[in-house]
Amino acid sequence: MLTRYFIGTFLTFLSLSLAAAEVNLYSSRKDILIVPLLEQFEKQTGIEVNLITGKASALMSRIKSEGEASPADLLITVDAGNLHRAKAEGLVQRVQSKLLESRIPEALRDPQMHWVGLTRRARTIFYAKDRVDPKTLSTYENLVDDQWKGRICIRSSSNIYNQSLVASLIEVHGEDATEAWAEGIVANMARKPTGGDTDQLRAVAAGQCDLAVSNTYYYGRLLDSKRAEDEKVVDTVKVFWPNQDGRGAHVNISGAAIAKYAPNYEEAIKLLEFMVSDEVQAYYAEVNHEFPVVASATVSETIKSLGKFKPHDLNLSILGKNNKRAVMIMDRANWQ
Ligand code: FE
Repeated sequence: MLTRYFIGTFLTFLSLSLAAAEVNLYSSRKDILIVPLLEQFEKQTGIEVNLITGKASALMSRIKSEGEASPADLLITVDAGNLHRAKAEGLVQRVQSKLLESRIPEALRDPQMHWVGLTRRARTIFYAKDRVDPKTLSTYENLVDDQWKGRICIRSSSNIYNQSLVASLIEVHGEDATEAWAEGIVANMARKPTGGDTDQLRAVAAGQCDLAVSNTYYYGRLLDSKRAEDEKVVDTVKVFWPNQDGRGAHVNISGAAIAKYAPNYEEAIKLLEFMVSDEVQAYYAEVNHEFPVVASATVSETIKSLGKFKPHDLNLSILGKNNKRAVMIMDRANWQ
C-alpha cells in the first residue's frame, strides 16, 4: 500500500518497517501526478513506496536537518536548478545505473550522475494571435526590441524558471550582455510581474499584454481544459518556438536525485529505472503535459499539437552553476 505524507502536517520521522522492501520518496510534484505510477511500481515489484510531498526547499532543509539518520531515498524536484542546489549542498550521491545513463540524454542529467532528468519542459514565447504577426518574432534576444515596449507579460525574478532562462543566456552571451537583456525585458514589460505562468497566458488573452513567456505545460493544461475561459485562452494565444535557426528553445527538466544517506539505495535505483521505461515515460510526461526525456517514448496528442521544436542542448547542470549570477543580474536590472 502506498503511504502518503504531507510535510507540515506530519512532522515525525517515517517509521522504517523491518520486513518489506521499501523506498522513501521526497517529492515536490503534486501527488496526483505521481501516485498512479508509484502504485503500479509497487504492484510490479512488491517494493512499498512512502511518499512525502512538499516544496523543494522544505524537502531539502528536512533532508539536511535529518542528517545521517534521514530516511530519504529519493528527492524529486521540478527544475534542474533545485537539483544542482541539492548536489552543491552535499545532500545527494551518485546514481549508479548503466540503464539510466543509456536511456537519459547526456544534456538532461548531471555529468557526475548526481541527478537525472525524468521529464523535459520548454520555456517558450506565446503571442496574441490577433495582435502579433509571428513573423515579427524570432528569439529570446529579440524580446528586448523596441517594438515590444509595454507588451510583454512575464513572472517575477524570484521564480526559478526565469532564473534558469537567464542562467542559459549567461552561458551563451556572458554576464554583461545578459544584464543588458534583463534591463530590456524590464523596459518592455506591460506590467509589474505578478502571478504564475498561467496568469501571463491569461493576461495575453485578456488584452493586458501581447506576448507572454511561459513553460509549455501550463498551456498544455489549458488545452486539455473544458472550461470556456480556458478555451478562450488557447483560441487567442498561440505558441512560438524561439531561436530555431540558432541554439534552440530553452528547456529544463523535472528530475530526481538519490539522497546521500539513502537507506534503500537499490530500491531507489529500481524506482528510477522503472520511471524511464517507454510506457512510464509516456504516461508521466502526459499527465504532466511535459515531454518525455527518453526519445523512444510517445508524446501525448496535446503536446504534439504544439509542433516540433529544436531544444537548446546545453547541459542543464549549467543552469544551477549560473543560478546565483542570474539572480544578481535580474536584481540589478530591477526585475521584480
Ligand atoms: Fe511549474
